[in-house]
Amino acid sequence: MSGIKNQLAKNQLAKNQRNQVQNVAVLGATGSIGQSTLDVLSHLPNRFRVALLSCHQRLDRFQEQCDRFRPKRAIVTGPRNTEVDAWLSGSVGLSGTVGLSGTVGSSETVREVGAERLIEAIVSDEIDIVVAAIVGCAGLESSLAAASAGKRLGLANKESLVVAGELLITAARSSGAELLPIDSEHSAIFQAIQSGQCKSEVQRIILTASGGPLRKWPVRDLENATVEDALAHPTWNMGRKITVDSATMMNKALEVIEAKWLFDLTPEQITVVIHPQSTIHSMVEFCDGSVIGQLSPPDMRLPIQYALTYPDRVPSPANKIDWREPHQMEWYPVDPERYPALELGFEVARRGGTTGAVLNGANEAAVELFLNRKIRLTEIAKICRSVLDHHDYSPSPTLDELMRLDRWSREEVFRWINIPC
Ligand code: NAD
Ligand code: MG
Repeated sequence: MSGIKNQLAKNQLAKNQRNQVQNVAVLGATGSIGQSTLDVLSHLPNRFRVALLSCHQRLDRFQEQCDRFRPKRAIVTGPRNTEVDAWLSGSVGLSGTVGLSGTVGSSETVREVGAERLIEAIVSDEIDIVVAAIVGCAGLESSLAAASAGKRLGLANKESLVVAGELLITAARSSGAELLPIDSEHSAIFQAIQSGQCKSEVQRIILTASGGPLRKWPVRDLENATVEDALAHPTWNMGRKITVDSATMMNKALEVIEAKWLFDLTPEQITVVIHPQSTIHSMVEFCDGSVIGQLSPPDMRLPIQYALTYPDRVPSPANKIDWREPHQMEWYPVDPERYPALELGFEVARRGGTTGAVLNGANEAAVELFLNRKIRLTEIAKICRSVLDHHDYSPSPTLDELMRLDRWSREEVFRWINIPC
């Protein structure tokens, strides 16, 4: 939050430039955020053009998106297999004729395969805005590429900041890239913080958490929670990984780290409260005691759109609060016994260095094991604690070191439960 006013002035300049249609890349287009982004973009054809789509799997859905939005480039980053080969050659969901280069005749979409192609496309002049909606550390390279190339980066992929916050923020600063949060809590803070003049006026931020589907379960029963129990989120409809993270509250732990980097806060300035209705998306408390929050129904299309159109606000397809209906708003403190993962986020926010990469890698591996019914939900935080405690800490790691620790932490998780990697 270095100089809100400067930021606004800079963006007024950008606004003048934005009279042209902006070319948008949606990374992770087939996921929950990717699909919501395309919905937002479909309502704003005079401002945005879908120039690039990427996905890792779900090629049937991907091809439908390509048929509808006709991007210049469509890139699959998943492993090469017969399904990908069929898509590349045009026999999956074909809407036009396919040239030898993989170009679909009617839509002019060039089909490509490979993560290197994606990076090369992101940094090219063809792209103005990148929506980073890949899940997990797999999204880091593309987030970094967009930040280094000076693009507007709408960041849903919080793991990028958790793993390599310092590198990502530095890359954005030196290239002049605009880093705009899509995570609803961070979008809320970004919106609320504009009520202040400068950083010293911010006392704290209050991150809200729904508490997830198991909020009311007796703590002793949590170890018996099934995959289905953990995926039954009461207020948000999201991808599987983030939904499990919400059940353990690891999601809020990651968001504490994300907030630290985005808004340059100390961990002591971050408070987490449970707000089961998910209507207040987060709040900023200023030094005079005023608390400014952002409210709306739980619908990711609003923060996605704001990241795209900022500093403008334009009509949105997102759901609105019906103020004629009675509505309850509660908040509660977080019980550390029920949600031990949250403390891990504060610890990483305090220690920095290699801790974010290790926590994130361990969590991704543990969540995958839980989803494959190999471990209990309650083991996720325990495993992450153990891996974090046993890693070789370094305060200012390089990207290569972070990537090595990401792999190491995943292997540790598999070792922990004696599964060959
Ligand atoms: P999702 O699982 O629904 O979709 C993930 C997308 O990433 C898919 O398009 C998939 O093909 C792609 N992908 C998966 N593995 C990949 C890899 N190795 N390389 C490249 N692409 C890969 O996930 P989601 O719920 O949309 O979440 C995406 C990101 O947004 C996550 O970082 C999540 O924390 C964040 N986020 C999501 C929500 C939400 O409401 N879903 C809210 C806030 C933040
Ligand atoms: Mg969030």
